[in-house]
Amino acid sequence: MTHWKEILQNSVSDSTTLARHFTFDCSALESAYASFPMRINSYYLSLIQEVDDPIWKQAVPDKRELEDSVCMPDPLGEERLSPVQGLVHKYPDRVLLLVASECAMYCRFCTRKRMVGSSSMCISEQSIENGIEYIKEHSTVREVLLSGGDPLLLSDKKLDSILGRLHAIPHLEVIRIGSRVPCTLPQRVTTDLAKILAKYHPLYINTHFNHPRELTREAEKACGRLANSGIPLGCQTVLLKGINDDAQTLKKLFTGLLKMRVKPYYLFQGDLTKGTNHFRTHSSCGIKIMQQLIGSVSGMAVPTFALDAPGGKGKIPLTPDYIISRGKELRFRNYCGEICTYPENGDPV
Ligand SMILES: *Cc1c(COP(=O)(O)O)cnc(C)c1O
Ligand code: SF4
Repeated sequence: MTHWKEILQNSVSDSTTLARHFTFDCSALESAYASFPMRINSYYLSLIQEVDDPIWKQAVPDKRELEDSVCMPDPLGEERLSPVQGLVHKYPDRVLLLVASECAMYCRFCTRKRMVGSSSMCISEQSIENGIEYIKEHSTVREVLLSGGDPLLLSDKKLDSILGRLHAIPHLEVIRIGSRVPCTLPQRVTTDLAKILAKYHPLYINTHFNHPRELTREAEKACGRLANSGIPLGCQTVLLKGINDDAQTLKKLFTGLLKMRVKPYYLFQGDLTKGTNHFRTHSSCGIKIMQQLIGSVSGMAVPTFALDAPGGKGKIPLTPDYIISRGKELRFRNYCGEICTYPENGDPV
């Protein structure tokens, strides 16, 4: 099997190289990746079957990225919520720590598009150390989420050192890693990596698959290896116009993930990130899809559809309306649309 570093080195990062693989109009593409970098490693490239398919759209720049006059660079107010650089403290009991600036593939819809993969993302040994110090000093922080960029693109040694220092903090109960590597570069999940991660339980990984075509044998092997190391796996999918915005596709994705031992965790409504407006759906699209999923597939395969509120106001679940009326009895519709009632006991609280 090819080593993951070699696969990463064989990335396509300009239109001339991409044109050796596909026939397309590259004139519009170059200005887009001048603003937001392109990196399609040879594994992820191999998943593209044709121009404009759901894999292509996630990876190849589009001129609409530059025509976006609606969205903003930092819609979640992450910079305002950073007490120290590279650490976002939005909720009382958990913090987000940015530990890597690179990814195995630069997703065109990335929420941190303003900085991921560019020199403006200043993550250093010092900023990570400052983040760890901040967590040490704040005993209300029970959980840390490692993010970036992609934490699993760090070397084994560096990751081991960061996890070791975090794990030694007595009040830190859980470590969570957000990584797209099981999807975009599954070869990175080596037995050595799995062994390192397994030293730091309770450790959770939330990965990120968006389309059933990403559920390959390689991805299955990577997820199996992590699960066998005792790591519970979740998935944070983004609802993307023209890629996965229909119930059929998402049913296949979520049930397929479950088979790979990954529990769908969130389905995200698109953020207002500059350069990603062409991927945003109307909120009713996701709610309608949820209605088609709930009850018709295993509850284990149903994620929470959520919107990360602009300005760092937190994640809000968006759910179909089931309740028709409240009173002495609750009237509601079930998953097939039948009207049901439930007699209440006592007064509302
Ligand atoms: C999403 C997020 C979290 C984690 O939220 P959960 O609902 O626990 O997954 C924590 N901090 C920040 C800044 C986030 O954006
Ligand atoms: S892997 Fe995650 S952080 Fe990296 S470009 Fe994709 S969405 Fe952004």
